[in-house]
Amino acid sequence: MHTDSIAVLGLGLMGRAIARRLAEQGFRVSGYNRSPLDDPDLVKAEISVTQDLAAAVQETPIIWIMLSDFAACESILLSESAASLWQNRLIINAATIAPDESRTLAAAVRNLGGRYLEAPVLGSTPQAISGGLQILLGGDPADIDTATPILSALGTPAHFGFVGQGAAAKLAMNQLIGSLTAAFSMSLGLIQRESVSVETFMTTLRQSALYAPTFDKKLDRMTDRNFTEANFPLKHLLKDIRLFKTAADPQGIDTRLIDSLADVLEQGVRSGHADDDYCALFDTIVRAE
Ligand code: NAP
Repeated sequence: MHTDSIAVLGLGLMGRAIARRLAEQGFRVSGYNRSPLDDPDLVKAEISVTQDLAAAVQETPIIWIMLSDFAACESILLSESAASLWQNRLIINAATIAPDESRTLAAAVRNLGGRYLEAPVLGSTPQAISGGLQILLGGDPADIDTATPILSALGTPAHFGFVGQGAAAKLAMNQLIGSLTAAFSMSLGLIQRESVSVETFMTTLRQSALYAPTFDKKLDRMTDRNFTEANFPLKHLLKDIRLFKTAADPQGIDTRLIDSLADVLEQGVRSGHADDDYCALFDTIVRAE
């Protein structure tokens, strides 16, 4: 096995970007995807792509998981045919999943003789391509040491503690993505409907303690109602908001606001925004006239 080689399992939006970044940084990258892929950028980066899991991980001691959710992680990591693949390998799981789900996977992988590091990421495809991700780690320091060259190539790691604690931190962040985007959508909607100058409103907002940079990041897309070419699709934000509720309810946290946010996101999915950027929340909250 080559110590500078890594397999990326799941070549969706983020998996493709991460695979390319690692290849550019000198790693030998092999990729696995459930469905066939035809991506010239991966070919250009000399990343082999296969639908054969065993072939993808054959030469690599380290495996980066970038699958959509727990069900996908379970079906890849815990299938009968994959049981012998993880022995002595380090699984770095960057999917956004719940703390309990991550603990379940960690226990199962360790039971199969593998190592498991939780590494959900903050940032999207532009940050993955430029090495600007924030990586929220949960796991053993020894596994972090092994993963350090890879983590450093992708961005800035922060160690939150045990497996489950990185996942909890990631859900706490994504709850803010949803809530801040919904809150800004409502305010921007009122400004537009009352024919108030958006520019004057934004200038005042930027000078106040209420401002968050994400507002400006999404402002043009909202005012133009341009939600295509997603970096982070609305359907995944819905998944994460539901995961937040699952994790927060048993902790005695009042999640009624999250219920409403999930309703609005579900409506966005039903109205065709599932694969659009999550700022399509604006289109559900402030209907086009
Ligand atoms: P995506 O574009 O939807 O890609 C999902 C990947 O998971 C695809 O490779 C898909 O394979 C695979 N997959 C789904 N179900 C599967 C199953 N049952 N078995 C095997 N493979 C399966 O998602 P993404 O945006 O790359 O996000 C991946 C993860 O990162 C998610 O947990 C997301 O919440 C998180 N994340 C995303 C962003 C972002 O900005 N996009 C940022 C931070 C974190 P197919 O091609 O065969 O469907």
